[in-house]
Amino acid sequence: MKKFDAIVVGARCAGAATALLLARSGARVLLVDKDSHGTDTLSTHALMRGGVLQLQRWGLLTAIEAAGTPPVRSTTFSYASHDVTVAIEPRYGVNALYAPRRRLLDRTLADAAAASGAEVEYGVRVADLIRDDRGRVCGVVANGHSPRRIEAEIVIGADGLYSTVARRVEAPTIVEGRHRTAVLFTYWRNMRSDGYLWRFTTGASMGAIPTNAESTCVFVSVAAHRFRDELGRDPLNAYRRWLREAAPAFDAQLDGATRTEPVRGFGGHVGFIRTSTGPGWALVGDAAYFKDPLTAHGITDALRDAELLARAVLRGTATALTEYEATRLDLSRGLFDITDEIASFQWTEDRLQSLHRALSAEMSREVRTLAALEPLLAVA
Ligand SMILES: Cc1cc2nc3c(=O)[nH]c(=O)nc-3n(C[C@H](O)[C@H](O)[C@H](O)COP(=O)(O)OP(=O)(O)OC[C@H]3O[C@@H](n4cnc5c(N)ncnc54)[C@H](O)[C@@H]3O)c2cc1C
Repeated sequence: MKKFDAIVVGARCAGAATALLLARSGARVLLVDKDSHGTDTLSTHALMRGGVLQLQRWGLLTAIEAAGTPPVRSTTFSYASHDVTVAIEPRYGVNALYAPRRRLLDRTLADAAAASGAEVEYGVRVADLIRDDRGRVCGVVANGHSPRRIEAEIVIGADGLYSTVARRVEAPTIVEGRHRTAVLFTYWRNMRSDGYLWRFTTGASMGAIPTNAESTCVFVSVAAHRFRDELGRDPLNAYRRWLREAAPAFDAQLDGATRTEPVRGFGGHVGFIRTSTGPGWALVGDAAYFKDPLTAHGITDALRDAELLARAVLRGTATALTEYEATRLDLSRGLFDITDEIASFQWTEDRLQSLHRALSAEMSREVRTLAALEPLLAVA
């Protein structure tokens, strides 16, 4: 039986990034995913500065740009009474934001992990964990072509919102949100799209995210009960109806544009922060911490926390893992609470603007923390 330093379950932004950093530092890593290589997932994909900074620090931003991901040079917050456009100032080596399609981002990270020596296997579902006689997690039961037991010093659950690893270790929830929004989104060509656009009205919010293939991802969010009560049988109809409600002028633009993909929907999930480390295990990404998509920050969190966790695993002590968890909580708590309140749709315009200012301050703190990290030394 082969023993790894780490098995990472889930090969998307959280897991592939963690595996990449561990493998680069010389750890023996197995990265598995039940999905296939280079596939999409149910998510829009706007990166904030912290996420772009991580890709740049790890040397992967060039590949994202080379794949035709357009630079985003401004963000517009559109309120009922007025718009506020903020230019993306060059800072910490980040000159623009990007919103790569997930099939590109996740593949880029996983391929970099493989190139750094991680063993990467797709079509492998982790069904259970194995424990030693002291109860410490020491590996996984994986179902691929045939069931296998694979041992490792640590099992990292990067397996998303419905994490099997979190369930098997019974990771306690330490913070729970109260609100959830539902999202419909699709992709459009032949439309004007300048930077990120986030528009907020009291019943529905929408956003536009320029991405690969000269397309723009356009989403609309509503309180989750509206999704249940008003979606009906035709998602495209509900999508256009809610877009018209949130941003009639923007919606009218779509009449002259070309939709390139079906409308996809997410019914919403209340946010949580879980205990994310224990004997022989750790969680990262949505498995550890999920918040409503309305602030578009989950991928940035995942890329941030992948590095915090990889550093802790490389230090190899229980204290290091406890510190990972404490730093993650410190950087996440403000973002979590602000997002939960925005997702309530119960704000005045003044309150919403002050929430956006607080969000921006939290993201600046996150970026300063990441920019201060020494680069992890790659093993030749
Ligand atoms: C509608 C929507 C819009 C969003 N928009 C944005 C946005 O614009 N910007 C942003 O930053 N964030 C956004 N998010 C959040 C973002 O999608 C998540 O935070 C992010 O995907 C988390 O990445 P992850 O790697 O932790 O998990 P995931 O991307 O969920 O990946 C988990 C992986 O684990 C694999 N897996 C699961 N169970 C097993 C198992 N038992 N064995 C093996 N493999 C397993 C899955 O196949 C999957 O590939 C959005 C989310 C939603 C739902």
